[in-house]
Amino acid sequence: MTGLSDSFQRPINYLRISVTDRCNLRCIYCMPPGGVCLMSHEDILRYEEIYTIAQAAAELGIDKIRLTGGEPLVRAGLPELIQMLARIEAIDDISLTTNGTLLKRCAAELKQAGLRRVNVSLDTLKSDRFELITRSGGNISQVLEGIDAARAVGLTPVKLNMVVMSGINDDELLDFAAKTIAEEWHVRFIELMPLAGEATPAPRFVSAGEMRKRLEQLGELEPCLPSIGNGPAKYFRLPHAKGTIGFITPVSEHFCFRCNRLRLTADGKLRPCLLSDDEVDLKKPLRRGISSAGLKQLIEEAVANKPLRHHIAEGYVPTRRPFSQVGG
Ligand code: SAM
Repeated sequence: MTGLSDSFQRPINYLRISVTDRCNLRCIYCMPPGGVCLMSHEDILRYEEIYTIAQAAAELGIDKIRLTGGEPLVRAGLPELIQMLARIEAIDDISLTTNGTLLKRCAAELKQAGLRRVNVSLDTLKSDRFELITRSGGNISQVLEGIDAARAVGLTPVKLNMVVMSGINDDELLDFAAKTIAEEWHVRFIELMPLAGEATPAPRFVSAGEMRKRLEQLGELEPCLPSIGNGPAKYFRLPHAKGTIGFITPVSEHFCFRCNRLRLTADGKLRPCLLSDDEVDLKKPLRRGISSAGLKQLIEEAVANKPLRHHIAEGYVPTRRPFSQVGG
């Protein structure tokens, strides 16, 4: 097999890069109530360092990159980084996961820099709830305007990520699904994962099976064939709908056997699995002047250590970092 593959013969071609641990929201499912300790600026990888790692990873077989955070758009000069990454010949897809609050003002610049598409987190359609879920004075209309701006400049398809929480926003499942009928909305319902250090199952957990049962009130969910995307979501369509409904099921039906990804944290640790604490430090060797061959060896080491699967359904929750510091 050419390219990068792990010890279970899974091809690894996707790198998610967290460009910052800072976020302008404090979502209840992502950040602990007491907040998190922020990384020092000195600890955060510089764009040149991210580029060097991405270049080495691309030479090994990575061809897709997603930028995430924290909130990636709070980091100054993100289009510059995108331009640098877009110059790497082997990279054929650069995408971004964002909360959308800052998207309107920079969508065109991001597109011009070489960004292909965006996923936007949107957990409610109600403005008072938005404030509750994001624990901020954030404004949902900024997010909706950001989504429109992304569509207008062609950062498409815009996928909307909703973390479904019992008693918080699960009563909006049908509203989100109904939006996919008349408009080209691509909504992904995500099962709530327990936060770092929290007992599982999370009390607000709703399984995708339960979500599907409720959605059937709107009609039969027809599987999208051939299957869409190369990520973990399984996609369906309501009868005659313009848009799609995806389910991401990390808890009730893990998709580790198809996992093709690595994650780079903002402070330069390469994580083979979102839900395991194992990391390989790239920053220190990089700052000590490691060669490209040495860097590639470290990346291969992380890939070789990729676990077969995570164990959150059995109660194992990584403890070291909250999602906001891994890049969700
Ligand atoms: N700030 C950006 C955003 O809001 O999309 C990017 C970072 S955020 C950590 C990335 C994704 O992680 C979000 O789409 C969110 O759905 C997901 N996420 C965070 N915490 C989660 C949890 N406890 N369970 C499920 N998904 C979670």
